[in-house]
Amino acid sequence: MGAGPYGLATAAWLSAAGVPLRIFGEPMEGWHAYMPEGMFLKSVPSASSISAPEPGHGFADFRAAHGGEPVGDLYPIPVEEFIDYGRWFQKRRVPEVERSMVRGVRAVDGGFGITLDSGEEFLAAAVVVSTGLVPFAHEPPELRGLAAAGLTSHTCEHRNMARFAGQEVAVLGAGQSALESAALLHEAGARPTVVARARSVLFGDRPQADLPVTRPRATRLRKPASTLGPGWSLWAVSRGPAAYRHLPTPVRMRLLHSVLGPSGAWWLRDRVAGRVPVLSGRTLVSAAPEDGKVRLELADPGGGRELLRADHLLMATGYRVEVDRLDLLESTLRQAVRTFGGAPRLSAGFESSVPGLYFTGLAAAPCFGPVLRFVCGTGFAARQVAAAVAARSR
Ligand SMILES: Cc1cc2nc3c(=O)[nH]c(=O)nc-3n(C[C@H](O)[C@H](O)[C@H](O)COP(=O)(O)OP(=O)(O)OC[C@H]3O[C@@H](n4cnc5c(N)ncnc54)[C@H](O)[C@@H]3O)c2cc1C
Repeated sequence: MGAGPYGLATAAWLSAAGVPLRIFGEPMEGWHAYMPEGMFLKSVPSASSISAPEPGHGFADFRAAHGGEPVGDLYPIPVEEFIDYGRWFQKRRVPEVERSMVRGVRAVDGGFGITLDSGEEFLAAAVVVSTGLVPFAHEPPELRGLAAAGLTSHTCEHRNMARFAGQEVAVLGAGQSALESAALLHEAGARPTVVARARSVLFGDRPQADLPVTRPRATRLRKPASTLGPGWSLWAVSRGPAAYRHLPTPVRMRLLHSVLGPSGAWWLRDRVAGRVPVLSGRTLVSAAPEDGKVRLELADPGGGRELLRADHLLMATGYRVEVDRLDLLESTLRQAVRTFGGAPRLSAGFESSVPGLYFTGLAAAPCFGPVLRFVCGTGFAARQVAAAVAARSR
């Protein structure tokens, strides 16, 4: 289920393993329906390929096929180009994608009963859930009063920031999504203010060279290159998702959020710093509607209080994996999935405690680490899933 990078890679590897399959979803929907126009990818071109068992399907191959110059770490990929790449990959490698949505999955004797939105029903021996991030969009409970008044939205709800032109928008968060949304709001004529718990907002450093191998040796030793960015901790988690799964649960959960802590890409700095007010080190004391507007009471590290009023509050509060929110799985099936902190416990082959039910992409990140939050994790995940499903069908 799903035709984003993870579903497409899984299908490519499953078909190469000789497993008969059907794949459902709208190709690259997560990117064209739930991310803002004008966005750039934070991941570099060499870490932005969807995995396939044969060569010739990477982002660089796509650019070459369309007459584009080779690009390196200094090239931020426009989201529109990445969507075109994903659709190109799908047409060439996974043309069998069926553009129907799965409406329901239930356990039946020896497998799963699937219902499509077309009304078709069929049986499957195994199901791979790769429905992406959107079902897990996190809305902090303390903002429910504002949400009920229609004064909040999550970043995944906006393709275009033009509707906020002329408005004051409080942007909650300090990560890439918060900082890029703030830049896009500002450029669309809105007046954003970033409100962050972090002591300061951080931006990455501009790479010293387009290709990691041409960086000075001392830099390479201090901060080795990895698909998640430079640095030893990123190198370790990007190289060892299988080992990550064996770490104690509290360590895994801590690393998942701390290894790639909130920060903006290097190229965002000039679009935010000095242009968008940032209230960092602020915790939310209360949030409530007042005269049709947002009223936030904030506490600063010195114990001071301040009020912020805005026309709208944009939650750049990320995503939290909770199997319970996947309502396309029938409730008895959901309850049968063993979880930790809401996320599914998975085997080395990405299988949950329900035999034949697999989870990949973000849903697998609490088990396998931050690499599963990014396109660069599709190779590891799709290989493992395909091998496990193929072994099962044998
Ligand atoms: C703002 C933002 C910026 C990001 N930038 C980067 C980046 O620079 N680099 C990077 O590597 N990652 C980035 N990511 C993470 C990226 O989104 C994921 O790595 C990747 O898209 C996950 O792929 P996926 O296939 O799991 O999910 P998605 O790409 O979200 O695809 C989900 C698929 O599931 C399908 N689907 C949903 N419901 C159903 C259903 N009921 N039945 C059938 N199909 C269904 C959809 O149609 C879609 O095809 C970013 C994420 C966000 C939110």
